[in-house]
Amino acid sequence: MADPETEARRLREQIAILRREAEDNSGILKRAQTRELCLLQSESLVALFDQIVDGLRESHGLEAVSLVLVDPQHEVRHLAHSEKFSSESRPEVLFVDTLAGMAPQFATLYKPWLGPYIGADHQLLFPGRQGLTSIAILPLRRQRQLLGALNFGSSDDRRFTRHHGTDFLDHLANVTAVCLENAINRARLVRSGLTDVLTGLSNRRYLQSRLAEELARAQRGENELTCVLVDVDHFKAVNDNHGHLAGDRVLREIAERIEMEVRASDVVARYGGEEFALLLPDTRPEEAIGLSERIRKSVAASPICFGPDQEVEVTVSVGVASVRPVSGVTDLKSLGEKLIAEADVQLYRAKADGRDLVRYANS
Ligand code: GH3
Ligand code: MG
Ligand code: MG
Repeated sequence: MADPETEARRLREQIAILRREAEDNSGILKRAQTRELCLLQSESLVALFDQIVDGLRESHGLEAVSLVLVDPQHEVRHLAHSEKFSSESRPEVLFVDTLAGMAPQFATLYKPWLGPYIGADHQLLFPGRQGLTSIAILPLRRQRQLLGALNFGSSDDRRFTRHHGTDFLDHLANVTAVCLENAINRARLVRSGLTDVLTGLSNRRYLQSRLAEELARAQRGENELTCVLVDVDHFKAVNDNHGHLAGDRVLREIAERIEMEVRASDVVARYGGEEFALLLPDTRPEEAIGLSERIRKSVAASPICFGPDQEVEVTVSVGVASVRPVSGVTDLKSLGEKLIAEADVQLYRAKADGRDLVRYANS
């Protein structure tokens, strides 16, 4: 047996190696988490494509990343084109009717496949790419549906071999599939004409259609329906002083702060330029005022950041009105118009009384 001193040195060296490995691993984990966050935060299909193709290629040090999407109805490519996607400038994103024929691996692909690049089998996955020697093909699944495949190509023939574990890649494929499904659903909503593109909230048209439904529901249940209008104070000055892009950023942030306060059953819409409208089913006036105050405070509480070291303080004024549609009233359309008009009157009272205020009327 080695003498204690030699043994202690050997152990210290081993500990140092393990520590370095742990540090390396935690670095890899951190980079992977940062990358996942970027995928999850992508606001549009095209932004997500960028994050997948460029983002993953850079963060994983790969020669090539491609995304093949199964799109037999040509729906996803239409959604992407409506976001100004162009196949010429983004050839790494491929739309196919079926995966059959793209690569032999797709016949039985449930888990990531890692192995050598074979031109005859894999060139369709990496159009125009030369010099790849090993690849990973990750099926993108949601529930039982195959959305497509995420493909990694490397010029290092030992980078992807069938001896490598696939847990990490499997996880990445799952995250990517969820993000894709979300982005596709979001793009569908935007296209349906009921969503506001800037904030992702519902738009005025959607609110109008829900207003009729909610009034009918309130009438059946003999409940109160409350409408809240939120208008940004002196918003013109934000645009004038900081530019329209800053103004847009402020609107998005206010939309987020409003959404943080409401329940899933509440309807939140961008009603006009810098005006938001909420419909609160089955909500008593005290509750609606409480909610409105929380929204007002949350906007005023901290400045809104619109760039590095750039922020602006904003406030909102809020008008609230409620209605309890009695049974027998058939003209719910007029009742809805009256409810919104009353909330508007209260909003202007809040403005006239000095702004950064909530005003309420029971109609
Ligand atoms: P008040 O406190 O009385 O509400 O004053 P205000 O300046 O907020 O009201 P005003 O109606 O005079 O100005 C609203 C401004 O909102 C004018 C318009 O250019 C701007 N706006 C509307 N839609 C958008 C948008 O999508 N992005 C940006 N950046 N500005 C917008
Ligand atoms: Mg306004
Ligand atoms: Mg305003």
